[in-house]
Amino acid sequence: MDYLEGLNPEQKGAVLQTKGPVMIIAGAGSGKTRVITYRVAHLIRQGVDSFNILVLTFTNKAAREMRERITHVVGPEAKNLWMGTFHSVFAKILRVEAEKIGYPSNFTIYDTDDTKSVLRAILKEMNLDDKLYSANLVYSRISSAKNNLISWQEYQQNAQIQADDFSTGRGHLGKIYETYAGRCFRAGAMDFDDLLFKTNELLREHPETLHKYQHKFKYLMVDEYQDTNFSQYLIVKKLAALNENLCVVGDDAQSIYAFRGANIQNILNFEKDYPDLKVFKLEQNYRSTQNIVNVANSIISNNKEQLKKNVFSTKEDGDKIKIMRSFSDNEEGKMVAEGILQDRANKGIKWNDFAILYRTNAQSRSMEEALRKLNIPYKIYGGLSFYQRKEIKDLVAYFRLTFNPNDEEALKRVINYPKRGIGDTTVDRIILAADQNGITPFEVVVNPAQYMDGRTSASVGNFGTMIQSFQVITKNLSAYDAALHIAQHSGLLKDLYEDKSVEGLNRYENIQELLNGIKEFSEREDIEDKGLDVFMQDIALLTNDDKDKNKDADTVSLMTIHSSKGLEFKQVNVVGLEENLFPSQMSLNSRSDLEEERRLFYVAVTRAESKLTISYATSRFKFGTLINCEPSRFLDEIDAKFLELDFTAKTAAPGNPFYEDDRKAWTRKDNVKEDSFSKPKPASASPIKTTSILAKAHVPSENFAPSDTSGLQNGMEVEHERFGYGKVINLEGKSPDIKATIFFKEIGQKQLLLKFAKLRIV
Ligand code: ATP
Ligand code: MG
Repeated sequence: MDYLEGLNPEQKGAVLQTKGPVMIIAGAGSGKTRVITYRVAHLIRQGVDSFNILVLTFTNKAAREMRERITHVVGPEAKNLWMGTFHSVFAKILRVEAEKIGYPSNFTIYDTDDTKSVLRAILKEMNLDDKLYSANLVYSRISSAKNNLISWQEYQQNAQIQADDFSTGRGHLGKIYETYAGRCFRAGAMDFDDLLFKTNELLREHPETLHKYQHKFKYLMVDEYQDTNFSQYLIVKKLAALNENLCVVGDDAQSIYAFRGANIQNILNFEKDYPDLKVFKLEQNYRSTQNIVNVANSIISNNKEQLKKNVFSTKEDGDKIKIMRSFSDNEEGKMVAEGILQDRANKGIKWNDFAILYRTNAQSRSMEEALRKLNIPYKIYGGLSFYQRKEIKDLVAYFRLTFNPNDEEALKRVINYPKRGIGDTTVDRIILAADQNGITPFEVVVNPAQYMDGRTSASVGNFGTMIQSFQVITKNLSAYDAALHIAQHSGLLKDLYEDKSVEGLNRYENIQELLNGIKEFSEREDIEDKGLDVFMQDIALLTNDDKDKNKDADTVSLMTIHSSKGLEFKQVNVVGLEENLFPSQMSLNSRSDLEEERRLFYVAVTRAESKLTISYATSRFKFGTLINCEPSRFLDEIDAKFLELDFTAKTAAPGNPFYEDDRKAWTRKDNVKEDSFSKPKPASASPIKTTSILAKAHVPSENFAPSDTSGLQNGMEVEHERFGYGKVINLEGKSPDIKATIFFKEIGQKQLLLKFAKLRIV
């Protein structure tokens, strides 16, 4: 049992306890995921058939990595494991069982964009006030209902929900939910939440099917259990009910998906559900230095709602945690990028060892810009997936329609792309005819003459015939040949080829890349069925990183904190620690939301192995306008003895109003000594000198009155409410969107949108 040597006694206990319910709730980096990996390897070594093991992970990437490690121990047997995210595993099962619940086996998976588009159409038809009913709000209500297993019928009957909806003036939500569910069903489509909702339906209504999978999955394991919602909880509970060989691992301090319905109750229920549960505690953090673990503990101790845990590290103290202040988001990017460049050179580590984590996707822009300037290779994880790009979705919509002609979103997307003279009115007419006659839109499309006049009917009919021809032809072609045929004969390839703009070329290349991917799939030897329909099945569930061929390329990783869960990096930069950004503005109204943001911060800092740098900017562009930012309250909560402050940003000058504000904020902390601000770093010495040659520091006036700036010209002197005096060095764009580049005496160059800028000519 040599392979068990890399475990401490407690971890080993959890691995060897293969029978019965097991729960491990432990802090970050304590080896929870490692226990699952070893447990699976151990089960296989003990003779358990790998077909009988189901492991649910948080990302496809986590599943892939786990499978690789298990392969090292047990060899190719690992290939047969059922391992993946809830969505991908149950989508696979639904493909086999769909007909039992009235769906075709080649049902479409609607991604978030498709879902919102269906909802927008419904809202428009119902003529509802878009302030009360935005597609986002309606989506999140329906999603939350589904994740709590509330059908539209139950939704409409639930007195509590009805009372809430009516009191907020949203009494139509029940009807919208009903219409939406009907549309998806007619289209043979499931949205992301349906993959779980319908799995529950399947297991509930078809006991023989439940029984089949209970027998199949003799051993179940769930990673990141704290982030499961009720719908997922119930699937796991049902599947495990026969053998009760269920092991869940998680950390309540890392629960960060409450907004998507994840429920901490699932951990607490676990003890009620399985009274003979074996609980294992892991306390040693193997990932991070003591300083990092201490900072993490000091952050999370501010939360009231948490299970008591003692987490410690036996590694060295390590560097103190650096807090870096900059004056703008661009400067923050620059400081982060320079830091990475230096550390890589000084420490001889790889780009791969660095991660930049942010709260919102929009923050990647300034980071990317700075990295590019220094020629640092990077890769963004999450964000807009390759498969969500317009041109990719267009071609994929043709594929979708070929295999599931009822897919209404796909139909609407490409019926007039490339242009065929089928306008919106015609599309509306098709949908209406389908509604009125109880048939699907595609049935109208292939038989249009009775629903519309001659010329329109001819173009619609031609489109229908083309899709039907795709259906016949793809039956006998490999995935690649089928995809190429569709790309060519739909006119899409030609349309993109003719667009010679930079974006057009880019789009054409993306299509080539998709086709290359399909070619590789056609040539794989490890799968039998290599049709385009098989390639298509889970495309909606794939993310950027699943597609990437250069998984091992040496690059800095950029991602939101949400997508960094479970991962680790030698050095981590957490950026944008500012009020209203992190914690986000949305979270400031309730304790539970604020505590979730704090857990998110805990997740972020616990990704770091040896060095953690946290930064904030005192101003940032948001929606095209420059706003001032305050340091995040979370910074104040960290015990200052673990911190080292870096206020060396080149524009940091005593006398600068921002600097003074920061200084006051920081000195509120009892244990920060004054002199930590003027650390004898060469870079911080110079600003003092600079002050003396600067004009008198600008003091923002209480009654600042912006004047008319319509006559602004290059070279004019101006005063800004916050940035003080400066000179216009460039003007571009047309009124009312004129952008002015201004050189401010105190803080340097800024670009401002005139219509928002609090500026006056002096
Ligand atoms: P998270 O809560 O962030 O998901 P986790 O509890 O799942 O963390 P792992 O990712 O399994 O923790 O482990 C953290 C790191 O510590 C990994 O690099 C892992 O290989 C290492 N590790 C865990 N246990 C041991 C051990 N007993 N000996 C050596 N290294 C270990
Ligand atoms: Mg883990």
